[in-house]
Amino acid sequence: MNIILFGPPGAGKGTQAKYLVNKLNNIQISTGEILRNEMKKNSNIGKMISQDMNDGKFVNDEIVNKLIEEIVFDPTKKNKLIFDGYPRSISQAKNLDLLLAKSNQKIDYVFFLNVSKEIIIERIEKRKTLENRQDDQQNTIMSRYETYMKTTKPVLNYYSKNSNFIEIDGTLKIDEITAKIDAFIKV
Ligand code: AMP
Repeated sequence: MNIILFGPPGAGKGTQAKYLVNKLNNIQISTGEILRNEMKKNSNIGKMISQDMNDGKFVNDEIVNKLIEEIVFDPTKKNKLIFDGYPRSISQAKNLDLLLAKSNQKIDYVFFLNVSKEIIIERIEKRKTLENRQDDQQNTIMSRYETYMKTTKPVLNYYSKNSNFIEIDGTLKIDEITAKIDAFIKV
């Protein structure tokens, strides 16, 4: 089963992704986490992306799409994909469709975790203390939210017409959201 978790930063995609990985024995594809790891390793990619990452700006499509391509075409990961933070733009969504078609896969569910701006700011403030992420600073949070509204939210129209699109109230408690997801995937 392949799933996309969609929603603004701080919506709880990572938390639900971890649950699904455990339950389905799938693989979490958090582009944010992959990119942060590249920075930690101080790899060439890490060096190229650090400025944009710290400013809360999008990393160049070419870099992100290449990372995704390697994962989608990896036979050990086939039909085990839990996307968390990708696609984040219409062009990424189109790229993903292409890669899935080429590898004979499809998306089974798109779960949209819907959360208001006020709650996001509150949650990211909390996460800042817990995870100490460079991009969880107040001004960066705002610019990440604006990028979400401008570039990522339009991706909803791309998916919402399909019958596998499910909107969930992301302000519910973690286990209530999990229960709603569970009711759909019925495994
Ligand atoms: P996240 O952990 O999903 O909040 O992502 C953290 C940061 O990683 C984002 O603010 C971007 O700088 C970068 N990033 C993550 N996913 C993508 C993506 N799909 N496209 C471009 N940049 C991304």
